[in-house]
Amino acid sequence: MVLDPATLVVVACIMSLVLGALLLFSWLQDRRIEALRWWSAACLVAAAASVLFLAGGHEMRSIWREIGNGAFMLAYGLSYLAARRFNEQSAPWTALIAGMVIWLSAVWVFDVTFVQRVVLMSLLIGGYAIVTARELWNGPDRLVSQRAAAVVTALNGIYFLGRIFAGPGLLPSFSWMQGFSDAWVSMVGLVILLYAMIFGFLVMSMAKEKTDLFHRRAALIDPLTGVANRRAFMVRAESMLAEARQAGEPAAVIMFDLDHFKVVNDTHGHLAGDDVLTEFAAIAVDRLPRRSMLCRMGGEEFAAIVPGTDHVSALDIAERIRLDLCSGARKIPATVSAGVAMSSTSRESLADLLSMADEALYNAKKTGRNRVVAAMGSPGRAPASKPVQPQLDAALA
Ligand code: GH3
Ligand code: MG
Ligand code: MG
Repeated sequence: MVLDPATLVVVACIMSLVLGALLLFSWLQDRRIEALRWWSAACLVAAAASVLFLAGGHEMRSIWREIGNGAFMLAYGLSYLAARRFNEQSAPWTALIAGMVIWLSAVWVFDVTFVQRVVLMSLLIGGYAIVTARELWNGPDRLVSQRAAAVVTALNGIYFLGRIFAGPGLLPSFSWMQGFSDAWVSMVGLVILLYAMIFGFLVMSMAKEKTDLFHRRAALIDPLTGVANRRAFMVRAESMLAEARQAGEPAAVIMFDLDHFKVVNDTHGHLAGDDVLTEFAAIAVDRLPRRSMLCRMGGEEFAAIVPGTDHVSALDIAERIRLDLCSGARKIPATVSAGVAMSSTSRESLADLLSMADEALYNAKKTGRNRVVAAMGSPGRAPASKPVQPQLDAALA
């Protein structure tokens, strides 16, 4: 059975239009996912390409057909651009129009033969599909639907590249001499139709997965500093503590509280205070080992869990963070006090460790601020560190 090629192209055109409109509608509803706009554009351009293709009729070298094929390349270019944007990567405009430019110059400037046309078109579409599939597969969020879209796109690319080698063997009524047969056009139309249908569904699903991810992240991250919030910490730190215990490793809990922060705000303004908080979080993230977790407990208080560290290293880490903050060449001077608690063989809960660290922090405040104090009962309790900028502390007190 040979499907009527013109009917297939009409169906593909209507479907591309509907998909394009649906994707545009999705983008208008939630503009955070900019890629939807580009995929919508890809569908609408593909629909226009189908109209041009039909307008070209059976004539092989009709101008409409050539422009239609060019538009089709542009649709694939737009889809690549969308995949890049979905991964929050920049998208070069040259890559967007390269296929269309190569196609139009090949058919207009050079007198390509029929076989050359088929090979060129297969190479261009196949190439676009493969790079798009690669981009989708490498998405940083590893969304299931994005991986599925990568596989479908790769298959689409393999089909087009395969055409170069398969040629007449796969398509009985195809003849290199006669040009396009109905079976050839029907097969291409069917593949594109199927691909667009599945891919459109997957793009919608990708957008939904990504939106869910935005919401989940927003619920767990402090918007000012970008570190975890208290809720995320209480869940994750508890399991980090359990894992460390199971591995027979010690773990440290460090509480930080910026000194005289009310004065910092009153003197320099709330926005400057916000900058200090952001800077402190960046310093702490930089100094903490990779396996640890920092959170903003609220206000100007931060907490960190550092698994696999002994008390000497934990105190050293806290001390380096304190030093980095107070010795940084910044417009607004700021200092921090810290309390460090260590998990021991007795089974302290996270809440116990936080309360021990908080008590040590209180002692750090009481004994002059801008210092690190180990919690009572922590093994090898070290003496409080000396403040580096006592004059600052005295000035703020
Ligand atoms: P101490 O050394 O005893 O910790 O003194 P402090 O002034 O830091 O402590 P206090 O608890 O009295 O004040 C905390 C201040 O932190 C008050 C509040 O305005 C400020 N603060 C809390 N959250 C934020 C924030 O998100 N941004 C800014 N800029 N300031 C904040
Ligand atoms: Mg405080
Ligand atoms: Mg404070």
